[in-house]
Amino acid sequence: MATHFDVDDSYAVEEEDPCQPATFAFPDVCCRCLAPAPEKGWKVGSGKQVAHNCWVNFVVSVPVCAACWSQLMKIRVLLVSATVSVMLLMLAVVYLLDPFELNGTEPSNMAAGYAVIALFLSPVSIGVYYLLGAVVAPRRTRAVARLSRDGDQVTFFNPEYQRLFLEHSRGPRTDSPGW
Ligand SMILES: [Zn+2]
Repeated sequence: MATHFDVDDSYAVEEEDPCQPATFAFPDVCCRCLAPAPEKGWKVGSGKQVAHNCWVNFVVSVPVCAACWSQLMKIRVLLVSATVSVMLLMLAVVYLLDPFELNGTEPSNMAAGYAVIALFLSPVSIGVYYLLGAVVAPRRTRAVARLSRDGDQVTFFNPEYQRLFLEHSRGPRTDSPGW
């Protein structure tokens, strides 16, 4: 069984841990619309396999304003409910066509049969979710930022924020980079 380590950026890190995402300093504006003093955070995640059965998940909360947060939430809820509808429709089609001749068998048999079908459909639902996302919500409306597989780099989809972020993380340091 694979071991999952959920890494949250709210953890206080004492030592450098390869399983911890780097800590980031974000400019104090919304990373989507650049509104000042964003009061919400939007979690972006990534993960990688570090050993045979060990996966590391990184989660970083990027600053978004309340308006963008509710927009993002709305899109997510819409996508999830659309996905659920598609899955229910697929189950209904299976029920109507009855390709496995489940209908009319023992109720327990039938329930077990549909449970197995639902189980097989769940990975399909992930595909449906992303497909719907690609069709319904263009990337720029729902994408906020991308976290690298090592959890050490955040790339923002708003190029203006990306520029601010790079400037901000370089900070007031005067030492030249080592070249
Ligand atoms: Zn915003």
